[in-house]
Amino acid sequence: MWVASPRRLEATANQFFARLPLDVRFELERHLEYVSLSVGKGLYERGAQAHHLLLPLTCVVGLVNVSEDGASTLVALVGAEGLVGLPALLSGRVASVEALVCTPGLAMRVPAELLRQAFVSDPAVQKLVHGYMQAFVAEMIETAHCARHHGTLQQLSVLILRANDKQGSGELLLTHERLAGMLGLRRETVSHAAQALQARGLFTYRRGHVHVTDRAGLESVACGCYARIQRVYRDVYSES
Ligand SMILES: [Zn+2]
Repeated sequence: MWVASPRRLEATANQFFARLPLDVRFELERHLEYVSLSVGKGLYERGAQAHHLLLPLTCVVGLVNVSEDGASTLVALVGAEGLVGLPALLSGRVASVEALVCTPGLAMRVPAELLRQAFVSDPAVQKLVHGYMQAFVAEMIETAHCARHHGTLQQLSVLILRANDKQGSGELLLTHERLAGMLGLRRETVSHAAQALQARGLFTYRRGHVHVTDRAGLESVACGCYARIQRVYRDVYSES
């Protein structure tokens, strides 16, 4: 199920991990495992007990709410700024949404109980987790607002910018079909919007590989949701 991967990145490439107290980082490093994740891989099923937390390095994970009729809604994206498995960290409880790999890459897997013990006993870890939760909730609020009030070009620009930020750098592997699933829109609608953005020279798209070529231009198309999401993470992490 999990594919061991050669260690190619420092653990501190994950911004949440980098802000943990040194003693907690040393303890986690003794137990963490580097894994290579492929697109579409399910990490937690809704209702399943999460025994491990995932700290993305170069992959991006989508947290998805799936209804009984199979309709899915993207709730949040998690990349190198955060962690997947927040409920397990806070209470040891089961996952409330499904977690799916949106863009492939590396992540670190750590036992949930280890970080939970540090959270319970260390005020510095509590401050970091509370700050991360604040940003995470703000991102969910902006995501819901964007889906309800803003156009396809704006939503698509925000999603590509967010995924790009969360991956760290480089190229995204995001097919039109996957983008449509994440936005809850029809594939044709997303393809049309993507072609319009490509025609403006904002990114290139080849066989599912999205490469942002004009970041400032893409930001100018995006609605204010992107800037607000960006600001809340910057504020929270600049305090820790
Ligand atoms: Zn928006």
